[in-house]
Amino acid sequence: MGSVDSKLYQFAVKEANEAVALDGKGKYRQAINKYQRAAESLLQFIKYNKNPTMVNRCKAQIEEYLERAKILKTHLDGPQVRKSRPGAGLDRDEGKLQDEGEGVSEEEKELLDTISGTILSESPNVKWKDIAGLQSSKQILREAIVLPILKPELFTGARKPWSGVLLFGPPGCGKTLLAKAAATECQATFFSVSSADLLSKWLGESEKLISSLFKLARMKAPSLVFIDEIDSVATKRGGGSESGGERRVKTQLLSEIQGIKTTEDKPLLTLGATNRPWDIDNAMLSRFQKKVYVPLPDMKARAAIFKIHTKGVNMNLTEEDFVELAVRAEGYSGRDISNVCRETIMIPIRELDMSGVLENSDQDVNVRDVTIDDFKKTLKKVKPMVDKHDLKHYQDWAEEFGEY
Ligand code: ADP
Repeated sequence: MGSVDSKLYQFAVKEANEAVALDGKGKYRQAINKYQRAAESLLQFIKYNKNPTMVNRCKAQIEEYLERAKILKTHLDGPQVRKSRPGAGLDRDEGKLQDEGEGVSEEEKELLDTISGTILSESPNVKWKDIAGLQSSKQILREAIVLPILKPELFTGARKPWSGVLLFGPPGCGKTLLAKAAATECQATFFSVSSADLLSKWLGESEKLISSLFKLARMKAPSLVFIDEIDSVATKRGGGSESGGERRVKTQLLSEIQGIKTTEDKPLLTLGATNRPWDIDNAMLSRFQKKVYVPLPDMKARAAIFKIHTKGVNMNLTEEDFVELAVRAEGYSGRDISNVCRETIMIPIRELDMSGVLENSDQDVNVRDVTIDDFKKTLKKVKPMVDKHDLKHYQDWAEEFGEY
Protein backbone atom coordinates (compact mmCIF):
# COMPACT_ATOMS: atom_id res chain seq x y z
CA MET A 1 0.00 0.00 0.00
CA GLY A 2 1.17 3.51 -0.76
CA SER A 3 1.21 6.12 1.96
CA VAL A 4 -2.03 7.92 0.92
CA ASP A 5 -4.12 4.80 0.69
CA SER A 6 -2.63 3.24 3.80
CA LYS A 7 -3.57 6.38 5.77
CA LEU A 8 -7.08 6.34 4.37
CA TYR A 9 -7.46 2.72 5.32
CA GLN A 10 -6.19 3.26 8.85
CA PHE A 11 -8.54 6.19 9.26
CA ALA A 12 -11.49 4.08 8.06
CA VAL A 13 -10.65 1.30 10.51
CA LYS A 14 -10.40 3.77 13.36
CA GLU A 15 -13.73 5.39 12.51
CA ALA A 16 -15.41 2.00 12.15
CA ASN A 17 -14.11 0.79 15.51
CA GLU A 18 -15.32 3.94 17.18
CA ALA A 19 -18.69 3.60 15.45
CA VAL A 20 -19.15 0.06 16.78
CA ALA A 21 -18.19 1.16 20.29
CA LEU A 22 -20.64 4.09 20.23
CA ASP A 23 -23.31 1.85 18.77
CA GLY A 24 -22.81 -0.60 21.64
CA LYS A 25 -23.21 2.22 24.17
CA GLY A 26 -26.45 3.35 22.57
CA LYS A 27 -24.93 6.62 21.28
CA TYR A 28 -26.59 6.16 17.94
CA ARG A 29 -26.30 9.64 16.43
CA GLN A 30 -22.54 9.74 16.89
CA ALA A 31 -22.32 6.15 15.67
CA ILE A 32 -24.16 7.02 12.45
CA ASN A 33 -21.62 9.78 11.73
CA LYS A 34 -18.71 7.47 12.30
CA TYR A 35 -20.18 4.69 10.17
CA GLN A 36 -20.66 7.14 7.33
CA ARG A 37 -17.14 8.47 7.61
CA ALA A 38 -15.72 4.97 7.67
CA ALA A 39 -17.70 4.13 4.52
CA GLU A 40 -16.60 7.32 2.74
CA SER A 41 -12.93 6.75 3.57
CA LEU A 42 -13.12 3.18 2.30
CA LEU A 43 -14.73 4.44 -0.91
CA GLN A 44 -11.79 6.80 -1.40
CA PHE A 45 -9.38 4.03 -0.51
CA ILE A 46 -10.59 1.67 -3.23
CA LYS A 47 -9.97 4.35 -5.83
CA TYR A 48 -6.26 3.95 -5.07
CA ASN A 49 -6.06 0.28 -4.24
CA LYS A 50 -6.49 -2.16 -7.09
CA ASN A 51 -6.07 -5.43 -5.24
CA PRO A 52 -9.33 -7.27 -6.11
CA THR A 53 -9.58 -9.19 -2.81
CA MET A 54 -9.08 -6.00 -0.84
CA VAL A 55 -11.55 -4.10 -3.01
CA ASN A 56 -14.22 -6.75 -2.54
CA ARG A 57 -13.68 -6.85 1.18
CA CYS A 58 -13.94 -3.06 1.39
CA LYS A 59 -17.12 -3.01 -0.70
CA ALA A 60 -18.73 -5.49 1.67
CA GLN A 61 -17.69 -3.36 4.64
CA ILE A 62 -18.98 -0.17 3.03
CA GLU A 63 -22.32 -1.84 2.49
CA GLU A 64 -22.40 -3.10 6.06
CA TYR A 65 -21.60 0.32 7.56
CA LEU A 66 -24.13 2.15 5.40
CA GLU A 67 -26.79 -0.43 6.15
CA ARG A 68 -26.16 -0.11 9.87
CA ALA A 69 -26.28 3.68 9.67
CA LYS A 70 -29.60 3.38 7.85
CA ILE A 71 -31.06 1.07 10.51
CA LEU A 72 -29.96 3.40 13.28
CA LYS A 73 -31.49 6.38 11.49
CA THR A 74 -34.80 4.58 11.11
CA HIS A 75 -34.59 3.68 14.76
CA LEU A 76 -33.98 7.30 15.82
CA ASP A 77 -36.74 8.56 13.55
CA GLY A 78 -38.90 5.95 15.18
CA PRO A 79 -41.81 7.80 16.82
CA GLN A 80 -43.03 9.47 13.61
CA VAL A 81 -42.52 6.35 11.56
CA ARG A 82 -44.33 4.24 14.11
CA LYS A 83 -47.39 6.40 14.26
CA SER A 84 -47.87 6.33 10.54
CA ARG A 85 -47.21 2.64 10.24
CA PRO A 86 -49.54 -0.06 11.42
CA GLY A 87 -47.90 -3.12 13.00
CA ALA A 88 -46.59 -5.50 10.38
CA GLY A 89 -44.78 -8.83 10.47
CA LEU A 90 -45.87 -10.95 13.40
CA ASP A 91 -49.62 -10.94 13.42
CA ARG A 92 -51.19 -9.30 16.44
CA ASP A 93 -54.60 -8.35 17.62
CA GLU A 94 -54.28 -4.93 19.16
CA GLY A 95 -57.76 -4.88 20.69
CA LYS A 96 -57.14 -8.15 22.41
CA LEU A 97 -53.86 -6.86 23.73
CA GLN A 98 -55.47 -3.97 25.52
CA ASP A 99 -58.25 -6.14 26.87
CA GLU A 100 -55.72 -8.40 28.45
CA GLY A 101 -53.91 -5.48 29.97
CA GLU A 102 -50.60 -6.69 28.64
CA GLY A 103 -49.65 -3.11 27.90
CA VAL A 104 -47.53 -3.70 24.83
CA SER A 105 -46.49 -0.22 23.84
CA GLU A 106 -46.26 1.17 20.33
CA GLU A 107 -42.53 1.08 20.73
CA GLU A 108 -42.51 -2.58 21.59
CA LYS A 109 -44.72 -3.39 18.64
CA GLU A 110 -42.25 -1.62 16.44
CA LEU A 111 -39.47 -3.57 18.07
CA LEU A 112 -41.25 -6.82 17.37
CA ASP A 113 -41.45 -5.82 13.74
CA THR A 114 -37.78 -4.98 13.73
CA ILE A 115 -36.81 -8.30 15.21
CA SER A 116 -39.16 -10.48 13.27
CA GLY A 117 -36.04 -11.66 11.43
CA THR A 118 -34.40 -12.64 14.71
CA ILE A 119 -37.29 -14.34 16.43
CA LEU A 120 -39.13 -16.89 14.46
CA SER A 121 -42.76 -17.34 15.32
CA GLU A 122 -44.16 -20.34 13.55
CA SER A 123 -46.14 -23.51 13.74
CA PRO A 124 -43.50 -26.07 12.90
CA ASN A 125 -44.45 -29.24 11.17
CA VAL A 126 -41.98 -31.77 12.53
CA LYS A 127 -43.36 -35.12 13.65
CA TRP A 128 -41.75 -37.41 16.22
CA LYS A 129 -41.34 -40.03 13.50
CA ASP A 130 -39.14 -37.60 11.52
CA ILE A 131 -36.60 -37.90 14.32
CA ALA A 132 -34.63 -41.13 14.45
CA GLY A 133 -33.80 -42.71 17.81
CA LEU A 134 -33.72 -40.51 20.93
CA GLN A 135 -36.62 -42.46 22.47
CA SER A 136 -35.96 -41.40 26.03
CA SER A 137 -35.46 -37.70 25.10
CA LYS A 138 -38.80 -37.84 23.27
CA GLN A 139 -40.51 -39.39 26.30
CA ILE A 140 -39.08 -36.78 28.67
CA LEU A 141 -40.22 -33.96 26.38
CA ARG A 142 -43.70 -35.41 26.18
CA GLU A 143 -43.91 -35.33 29.95
CA ALA A 144 -42.25 -31.98 30.41
CA ILE A 145 -43.72 -30.03 27.51
CA VAL A 146 -46.48 -31.76 25.59
CA LEU A 147 -48.67 -33.05 28.41
CA PRO A 148 -48.59 -29.86 30.51
CA ILE A 149 -49.74 -27.93 27.45
CA LEU A 150 -52.29 -30.43 26.16
CA LYS A 151 -53.63 -31.47 29.55
CA PRO A 152 -52.97 -28.60 31.97
CA GLU A 153 -55.70 -29.92 34.27
CA LEU A 154 -53.41 -32.84 35.17
CA PHE A 155 -50.74 -30.51 36.46
CA THR A 156 -52.33 -28.92 39.46
CA GLY A 157 -51.34 -28.67 43.11
CA ALA A 158 -47.95 -30.13 43.85
CA ARG A 159 -47.82 -31.73 40.39
CA LYS A 160 -46.42 -28.68 38.64
CA PRO A 161 -44.83 -28.76 35.21
CA TRP A 162 -41.17 -27.77 34.92
CA SER A 163 -40.94 -24.14 33.91
CA GLY A 164 -37.72 -24.63 32.00
CA VAL A 165 -36.20 -27.59 30.17
CA LEU A 166 -32.63 -27.61 28.88
CA LEU A 167 -31.56 -29.80 25.96
CA PHE A 168 -27.84 -30.33 25.84
CA GLY A 169 -25.48 -32.39 23.71
CA PRO A 170 -23.22 -32.29 20.68
CA PRO A 171 -24.22 -30.04 17.78
CA GLY A 172 -26.42 -31.43 15.02
CA CYS A 173 -27.99 -34.25 17.06
CA GLY A 174 -31.62 -33.16 17.03
CA LYS A 175 -32.14 -30.61 19.81
CA THR A 176 -33.92 -28.17 17.51
CA LEU A 177 -35.84 -30.99 15.86
CA LEU A 178 -37.07 -32.24 19.24
CA ALA A 179 -38.22 -28.77 20.25
CA LYS A 180 -40.12 -28.41 16.98
CA ALA A 181 -41.71 -31.84 17.28
CA ALA A 182 -42.86 -31.05 20.83
CA ALA A 183 -44.39 -27.75 19.63
CA THR A 184 -46.06 -29.51 16.69
CA GLU A 185 -47.63 -32.16 18.85
CA CYS A 186 -49.16 -29.75 21.32
CA GLN A 187 -50.00 -27.17 18.64
CA ALA A 188 -48.18 -24.49 20.55
CA THR A 189 -46.90 -21.31 18.96
CA PHE A 190 -43.20 -21.84 18.59
CA PHE A 191 -40.83 -18.95 19.21
CA SER A 192 -37.29 -19.69 18.22
CA VAL A 193 -34.49 -17.33 19.10
CA SER A 194 -30.74 -17.69 19.22
CA SER A 195 -28.95 -16.14 22.18
CA ALA A 196 -26.18 -14.98 19.92
CA ASP A 197 -28.76 -12.89 18.06
CA LEU A 198 -30.15 -11.57 21.32
CA LEU A 199 -26.72 -10.33 22.23
CA SER A 200 -26.07 -8.87 18.83
CA LYS A 201 -24.26 -5.60 19.31
CA TRP A 202 -26.14 -4.28 16.31
CA LEU A 203 -29.47 -4.49 18.03
CA GLY A 204 -28.48 -2.74 21.25
CA GLU A 205 -32.08 -3.27 22.31
CA SER A 206 -31.82 -6.78 23.66
CA GLU A 207 -33.64 -6.25 26.93
CA LYS A 208 -36.71 -4.81 25.27
CA LEU A 209 -36.50 -7.55 22.73
CA ILE A 210 -36.63 -10.22 25.42
CA SER A 211 -39.50 -8.69 27.34
CA SER A 212 -41.46 -8.23 24.11
CA LEU A 213 -40.78 -11.81 23.15
CA PHE A 214 -42.21 -13.13 26.40
CA LYS A 215 -45.18 -10.78 26.27
CA LEU A 216 -46.03 -11.95 22.80
CA ALA A 217 -45.54 -15.57 23.85
CA ARG A 218 -48.05 -15.04 26.67
CA MET A 219 -50.53 -13.53 24.24
CA LYS A 220 -50.13 -16.39 21.82
CA ALA A 221 -50.22 -19.10 24.50
CA PRO A 222 -49.98 -22.01 24.51
CA SER A 223 -46.43 -21.17 23.54
CA LEU A 224 -43.05 -22.73 23.54
CA VAL A 225 -40.07 -20.39 23.63
CA PHE A 226 -36.97 -22.10 22.27
CA ILE A 227 -33.69 -20.36 23.10
CA ASP A 228 -30.77 -21.80 21.22
CA GLU A 229 -27.12 -21.38 22.29
CA ILE A 230 -28.27 -20.39 25.76
CA ASP A 231 -24.64 -20.62 26.94
CA SER A 232 -23.68 -17.50 25.00
CA VAL A 233 -26.11 -15.36 27.00
CA ALA A 234 -25.22 -16.90 30.36
CA THR A 235 -21.55 -17.76 30.42
CA LYS A 236 -19.81 -18.32 33.70
CA ARG A 237 -16.76 -16.50 32.59
CA GLY A 238 -16.46 -14.63 35.84
CA GLY A 239 -13.68 -12.16 36.36
CA GLY A 240 -15.97 -9.29 35.38
CA SER A 241 -15.26 -9.86 31.67
CA GLU A 242 -18.96 -9.64 30.91
CA SER A 243 -19.98 -6.29 29.55
CA GLY A 244 -22.75 -4.29 31.24
CA GLY A 245 -25.00 -5.01 28.27
CA GLU A 246 -24.44 -8.75 28.47
CA ARG A 247 -25.14 -8.78 32.17
CA ARG A 248 -28.39 -6.91 31.71
CA VAL A 249 -29.55 -9.29 29.00
CA LYS A 250 -28.82 -12.25 31.23
CA THR A 251 -30.64 -10.77 34.21
CA GLN A 252 -33.62 -9.97 32.04
CA LEU A 253 -33.78 -13.47 30.63
CA LEU A 254 -33.43 -15.01 34.09
CA SER A 255 -36.31 -13.01 35.43
CA GLU A 256 -38.52 -13.81 32.43
CA ILE A 257 -37.92 -17.54 32.75
CA GLN A 258 -38.40 -17.38 36.51
CA GLY A 259 -41.56 -15.29 36.22
CA ILE A 260 -43.33 -17.61 33.84
CA LYS A 261 -46.66 -18.51 35.28
CA THR A 262 -48.20 -21.61 33.86
CA THR A 263 -51.85 -21.03 34.54
CA GLU A 264 -54.32 -23.68 33.51
CA ASP A 265 -55.54 -21.96 30.40
CA LYS A 266 -52.33 -20.28 29.23
CA PRO A 267 -49.29 -22.48 29.43
CA LEU A 268 -45.96 -21.02 28.35
CA LEU A 269 -42.81 -23.11 28.56
CA THR A 270 -39.19 -22.31 27.89
CA LEU A 271 -36.87 -24.75 26.24
CA GLY A 272 -33.16 -23.95 26.15
CA ALA A 273 -30.55 -25.69 24.02
CA THR A 274 -26.79 -25.73 24.24
CA ASN A 275 -23.73 -27.47 22.86
CA ARG A 276 -21.68 -26.20 25.81
CA PRO A 277 -23.64 -26.90 29.01
CA TRP A 278 -20.51 -26.60 31.18
CA ASP A 279 -20.25 -22.94 30.21
CA ILE A 280 -23.66 -21.99 31.56
CA ASP A 281 -23.58 -20.10 34.81
CA ASN A 282 -25.31 -21.49 37.86
CA ALA A 283 -28.11 -18.95 38.07
CA MET A 284 -29.27 -19.77 34.56
CA LEU A 285 -28.73 -23.50 35.04
CA SER A 286 -30.97 -23.50 38.07
CA ARG A 287 -33.82 -22.01 36.01
CA PHE A 288 -33.84 -25.16 33.90
CA GLN A 289 -35.14 -27.71 36.33
CA LYS A 290 -35.06 -30.50 33.78
CA LYS A 291 -31.87 -31.18 31.82
CA VAL A 292 -32.11 -33.62 28.95
CA TYR A 293 -29.09 -35.16 27.23
CA VAL A 294 -29.42 -35.45 23.45
CA PRO A 295 -26.50 -37.69 22.52
CA LEU A 296 -24.96 -38.76 19.21
CA PRO A 297 -27.21 -41.25 17.40
CA ASP A 298 -26.64 -44.93 18.18
CA MET A 299 -26.29 -47.61 15.48
CA LYS A 300 -30.00 -48.13 14.95
CA ALA A 301 -30.67 -44.40 14.85
CA ARG A 302 -27.85 -43.85 12.35
CA ALA A 303 -29.34 -46.44 9.98
CA ALA A 304 -32.73 -44.74 10.33
CA ILE A 305 -31.22 -41.27 9.68
CA PHE A 306 -29.67 -42.57 6.43
CA LYS A 307 -33.17 -43.72 5.41
CA ILE A 308 -34.91 -40.48 6.42
CA HIS A 309 -32.48 -38.36 4.43
CA THR A 310 -32.65 -40.45 1.25
CA LYS A 311 -36.42 -40.78 1.14
CA GLY A 312 -37.93 -40.66 -2.34
CA VAL A 313 -34.60 -41.28 -4.12
CA ASN A 314 -34.05 -44.47 -6.12
CA MET A 315 -31.60 -46.56 -4.18
CA ASN A 316 -30.07 -49.96 -4.64
CA LEU A 317 -29.45 -50.74 -0.97
CA THR A 318 -30.52 -53.65 1.23
CA GLU A 319 -31.26 -53.59 4.96
CA GLU A 320 -27.78 -55.02 5.54
CA ASP A 321 -26.28 -52.17 3.52
CA PHE A 322 -27.95 -49.63 5.82
CA VAL A 323 -26.52 -51.48 8.82
CA GLU A 324 -23.09 -51.35 7.20
CA LEU A 325 -23.45 -47.60 6.65
CA ALA A 326 -24.48 -47.15 10.27
CA VAL A 327 -21.35 -49.02 11.38
CA ARG A 328 -19.12 -46.95 9.15
CA ALA A 329 -20.74 -43.72 10.37
CA GLU A 330 -19.89 -44.25 14.02
CA GLY A 331 -19.26 -40.86 15.65
CA TYR A 332 -21.30 -38.99 13.01
CA SER A 333 -24.07 -36.66 14.18
CA GLY A 334 -27.49 -36.54 12.53
CA ARG A 335 -26.40 -33.43 10.69
CA ASP A 336 -23.19 -35.12 9.48
CA ILE A 337 -25.23 -38.04 8.14
CA SER A 338 -27.70 -35.71 6.47
CA ASN A 339 -24.72 -33.99 4.77
CA VAL A 340 -23.36 -37.36 3.64
CA CYS A 341 -26.76 -38.24 2.16
CA ARG A 342 -27.15 -34.92 0.40
CA GLU A 343 -23.71 -35.28 -1.16
CA THR A 344 -24.22 -38.94 -2.13
CA ILE A 345 -27.62 -38.66 -3.79
CA MET A 346 -26.14 -36.02 -6.09
CA ILE A 347 -23.48 -38.40 -7.45
CA PRO A 348 -25.66 -39.95 -10.24
CA ILE A 349 -26.82 -36.46 -11.29
CA ARG A 350 -23.25 -35.16 -11.34
CA GLU A 351 -22.21 -38.09 -13.54
CA LEU A 352 -24.98 -37.35 -16.01
CA ASP A 353 -24.08 -33.69 -16.07
CA MET A 354 -20.43 -34.45 -16.73
CA SER A 355 -21.30 -36.85 -19.54
CA GLY A 356 -23.07 -33.98 -21.32
CA VAL A 357 -26.42 -35.82 -21.51
CA LEU A 358 -28.25 -33.06 -19.67
CA GLU A 359 -27.32 -30.46 -22.29
CA ASN A 360 -29.72 -32.02 -24.77
CA SER A 361 -33.13 -31.15 -23.36
CA ASP A 362 -35.07 -33.42 -25.77
CA GLN A 363 -33.34 -36.58 -24.67
CA ASP A 364 -34.98 -38.72 -21.93
CA VAL A 365 -32.59 -39.12 -19.05
CA ASN A 366 -32.26 -42.19 -16.90
CA VAL A 367 -30.84 -41.52 -13.48
CA ARG A 368 -29.08 -44.59 -12.10
CA ASP A 369 -29.80 -45.87 -8.57
CA VAL A 370 -27.61 -44.73 -5.70
CA THR A 371 -25.37 -47.58 -4.48
CA ILE A 372 -23.53 -48.42 -1.29
CA ASP A 373 -20.24 -47.65 -3.07
CA ASP A 374 -21.41 -44.06 -3.61
CA PHE A 375 -21.95 -43.77 0.15
CA LYS A 376 -18.59 -45.32 0.93
CA LYS A 377 -16.86 -42.75 -1.27
CA THR A 378 -18.64 -39.87 0.43
CA LEU A 379 -18.00 -41.23 3.92
CA LYS A 380 -14.29 -41.10 3.16
CA LYS A 381 -14.58 -37.42 2.31
CA VAL A 382 -17.16 -36.12 4.82
CA LYS A 383 -15.78 -36.54 8.33
CA PRO A 384 -17.69 -36.26 11.62
CA MET A 385 -17.68 -32.82 13.20
CA VAL A 386 -17.92 -33.80 16.86
CA ASP A 387 -14.63 -34.17 18.68
CA LYS A 388 -14.10 -37.40 20.71
CA HIS A 389 -12.70 -35.37 23.59
CA ASP A 390 -15.93 -33.32 23.73
CA LEU A 391 -18.04 -36.50 23.91
CA LYS A 392 -16.45 -37.48 27.19
CA HIS A 393 -17.14 -33.98 28.46
CA TYR A 394 -20.86 -34.33 27.57
CA GLN A 395 -21.12 -37.73 29.23
CA ASP A 396 -19.48 -36.52 32.42
CA TRP A 397 -21.75 -33.50 32.52
CA ALA A 398 -24.83 -35.65 31.83
CA GLU A 399 -23.92 -37.94 34.70
CA GLU A 400 -23.62 -35.04 37.06
CA PHE A 401 -26.62 -32.94 35.98
CA GLY A 402 -28.70 -34.55 33.29
CA GLU A 403 -31.22 -37.18 32.36
CA TYR A 404 -30.95 -39.56 29.46
P1 ADP B 1 -29.03 -29.33 17.05
O1 ADP B 1 -30.16 -28.41 17.39
O2 ADP B 1 -28.84 -30.42 18.06
O3 ADP B 1 -27.73 -28.63 16.74
P2 ADP B 1 -30.68 -30.02 14.80
O4 ADP B 1 -31.88 -30.52 15.50
O5 ADP B 1 -30.78 -28.63 14.22
O6 ADP B 1 -29.41 -30.09 15.71
O7 ADP B 1 -30.29 -31.04 13.66
C1 ADP B 1 -29.62 -30.63 12.47
C2 ADP B 1 -30.10 -31.45 11.30
O8 ADP B 1 -29.54 -32.78 11.41
C3 ADP B 1 -31.60 -31.64 11.26
O9 ADP B 1 -32.23 -30.62 10.55
C4 ADP B 1 -31.73 -32.98 10.59
O10 ADP B 1 -31.64 -32.84 9.19
C5 ADP B 1 -30.51 -33.75 11.05
N1 ADP B 1 -30.74 -34.60 12.24
C6 ADP B 1 -30.15 -34.48 13.44
N2 ADP B 1 -30.57 -35.42 14.29
C7 ADP B 1 -31.47 -36.16 13.62
C8 ADP B 1 -32.28 -37.30 13.97
N3 ADP B 1 -32.21 -37.89 15.18
N4 ADP B 1 -33.12 -37.79 13.02
C9 ADP B 1 -33.19 -37.23 11.81
N5 ADP B 1 -32.45 -36.17 11.42
C10 ADP B 1 -31.59 -35.63 12.30
